[in-house]
Amino acid sequence: MKAIPYGRQNITQEDIDTVVDTLKSDYLTQGPKIKEFEEAFAKYIGCKYAVAVANGTAALHLCALALDIKEGDKVITPPITFAASSNCVRYCGGEVVFADINPDTYLIDINNVRKLLEGSPKGTYKGIVPVDFAGRAVNLEEFRKLADEYNLWIIEDACHAPGGYFVDSKGEKQFCGNGKFAELAIFSFHPVKHIAAGEGGMITTNNKDLYEKLLILRTHGIVKSNDAYKNTIEFAAGTSDVKGNDYPNWYMEMQMLGFNYRLTDFQAALGTSQLKRADEGLARRREIAAVYEKAFNGKNYIKGQSGAVEGHAYHLYIIEAENRLGLYNYLRGKNIFAQIHYIPTHLMPYYKSFGWKEGDMPLSENYYRHCISLPMYPTLSSDEQQYVIDCINSFYES
Ligand SMILES: *Cc1c(COP(=O)(O)O)cnc(C)c1O
Repeated sequence: MKAIPYGRQNITQEDIDTVVDTLKSDYLTQGPKIKEFEEAFAKYIGCKYAVAVANGTAALHLCALALDIKEGDKVITPPITFAASSNCVRYCGGEVVFADINPDTYLIDINNVRKLLEGSPKGTYKGIVPVDFAGRAVNLEEFRKLADEYNLWIIEDACHAPGGYFVDSKGEKQFCGNGKFAELAIFSFHPVKHIAAGEGGMITTNNKDLYEKLLILRTHGIVKSNDAYKNTIEFAAGTSDVKGNDYPNWYMEMQMLGFNYRLTDFQAALGTSQLKRADEGLARRREIAAVYEKAFNGKNYIKGQSGAVEGHAYHLYIIEAENRLGLYNYLRGKNIFAQIHYIPTHLMPYYKSFGWKEGDMPLSENYYRHCISLPMYPTLSSDEQQYVIDCINSFYES
């Protein structure tokens, strides 16, 4: 059996042709393919605006900047996620406060968030970064209510969940990143995510002001708009002899401290091409999940599993296993490269330096001792999946 990773990209000939066409065009970095990708992505997600950026981490950083996170601002995140979810707060000098997960959903537990908020004077916390971990959508309708009570913003980290949704109190599907409940949401196009662009990220929102600010922050904080300039037209022109109200065509202004977080046009072309197959991939992920669910149901060495959950986008399929280390090594010996998601962020030495320690997030820590992500990607064949299941069963049953 050839090596089976826990996740992988799927690049088709059509993807390759699209990228090659773009390489032959006039634009390499940000050009017409960016707008095309943004529009197609916004339509897919069901939001008003989308901003393509260099990667998911840059997307988080720009969100933190757009929401004006400052030195000492407290922001709540879960510890079971990729470190970038909390790092964006630190980039702006904010303070990360972790809230433990719900052991059944593996998502940030709203009751733990509520406890934090109730335990401090109003205004102590500025925002929440909930994560649609593994592809399971956080119920943002509930988080929005709580956030409104305490005047908090929400950045939804939806990197695992394009196409995922939860069902709201009116019975309607609310797709991850649709901007209905969170001010901003972010996605990643790292090869292991649902839509691969090499590197890449997207911010989605329904808020026009935030959208416009993000566009400026993406390119150094530079503004190019006749109506928005702060310096005089005489300064811009370099002469007092100016007629009319048009600034010279070369003129532009850096009005805030931004970054170069642009995506290239050929990455955007790849992303757009991949997006066309997103639903197909999602359907295949759900099929694979259903097979795992059935295979492990009732096995006493499996303590928990992702299971069948409506709207789950199955970026990861996780089981909580007895003797996880033994299983992991056994599977490696069988050419199956399962993975662990994640080492709790609050116990990373960097975050420990702020005082976080073992025992602070008991549910996340217990989850970490048992979790293992099984192969999950659209091109995983039925035979390969059966081999994975057989190997797991033989590890425990022999
Ligand atoms: C991948 C990922 C990120 C960061 O995305 P990059 O594109 O790799 O920078 C952030 N949050 C989560 C949950 C992720 O899985």
